[in-house]
Amino acid sequence: MDLYEHQARDLFAAHGIPVPRAEVTGSPEEARDIARRLGGRVVVKAQVRTGGRGKAGGVRIAADPVAAELVARQILGMDIKGHTVRTVMLAQPVDIEAEFYVGYVLDRAAGGFLAIASAEGGMEIEEVAATRPEAVARVPVSPAEGVTSAKAAEIAKAAGLPPQTADVLVRLWEVLVREDALLVEVNPLVRTPQGRILALDGKVTVDDNARFRQARWGDQDAEHDDPLEAAAAAKGLHYVKLDGEVGVIGNGAGLVMSTLDVVAGCGARPADFLDIGGGANARVMADGLSLVLSDPDVKSVLVNVFGGITACDAVADGIVRAVDSMHLTKPLVVRLDGNNAARGRALLEERAHPLVHQVPTMDGAARRAAELATTP
Ligand code: GDP
Ligand code: MN
Repeated sequence: MDLYEHQARDLFAAHGIPVPRAEVTGSPEEARDIARRLGGRVVVKAQVRTGGRGKAGGVRIAADPVAAELVARQILGMDIKGHTVRTVMLAQPVDIEAEFYVGYVLDRAAGGFLAIASAEGGMEIEEVAATRPEAVARVPVSPAEGVTSAKAAEIAKAAGLPPQTADVLVRLWEVLVREDALLVEVNPLVRTPQGRILALDGKVTVDDNARFRQARWGDQDAEHDDPLEAAAAAKGLHYVKLDGEVGVIGNGAGLVMSTLDVVAGCGARPADFLDIGGGANARVMADGLSLVLSDPDVKSVLVNVFGGITACDAVADGIVRAVDSMHLTKPLVVRLDGNNAARGRALLEERAHPLVHQVPTMDGAARRAAELATTP
């Protein structure tokens, strides 16, 4: 689970990493009061769990409290890469002499951690990493030894960072370990003209396996901007809204992802990803189908189930229940195979709804669903 910048900032502060004074709000009027408290001139920063806020216009300096209110009003409600801005952080502005990048990330392949650091941090870090990889140092960190002062000095030296950043590197490692993080990142870590080192932005990804120890963050991943995704989450469905017109439902993430590809290969675009999971029952299928059909973008629905633990007759039962409980106006293409497929197919044949079509193969079913979605 990713934390918001202001939460990362609070963790940094708690572990002794210098950060600017800052406060969070969802109200422009309150932004004005906060700016006044912080000394007038402030940086107003969109709080969304994605990078590139600066380039998207989500990080702006306001000269005084009145401007802070205005800027907050403009940033609140903005869409940044599909994330709606609901809160802003106001921070005391910092004069920047140099911007660095530092972070630790779990390196699963190596069975350890990796320190990543660069003396050329800031908004162009991806560009730097792509065009001049030698400007980004990568130093393995043993989980058992961690980042000692000596290790921190080694990382700073490898990246060409000033020696006084070593203290932050040690403390950032403490954040990773104590807060059960898989990734911690500071970009930019800055040096001011007075020689102070401060973390101006932070990203922390908390290991979901450690939620029992990190319960204070709650379930922020359950916050959805899309109303259909919110409805799906409320029903416990694994659903992602997409841009197309063919509703896709299947069992197992791998099968559903392949189904998206096959639909795209047929010249149509998937409207969603919905995985009813292994061992799905009729109710889950019915809930999923109702949800997908309620999407106004959907022109046809493709149900692709390869029964393993999930039994095809339970899926068919769910489809019949959903169809019986609503006025079906969109065509449904169903491919059932595997566990109890014969019984499942028979159930749908018995119901004989004119808009429900059965096709025995995945390719054939996808082609049919694509045709039904694209021909008026
Ligand atoms: P990101 O674009 O989502 O990574 O957002 P950041 O928090 O990193 O902000 C983007 C950029 O805004 C930083 O790289 C800085 O150059 C700039 N910035 C952020 N805070 C300050 C500040 O207090 N003073 C100045 N001068 N620039 C800032
Ligand atoms: Mn940043």
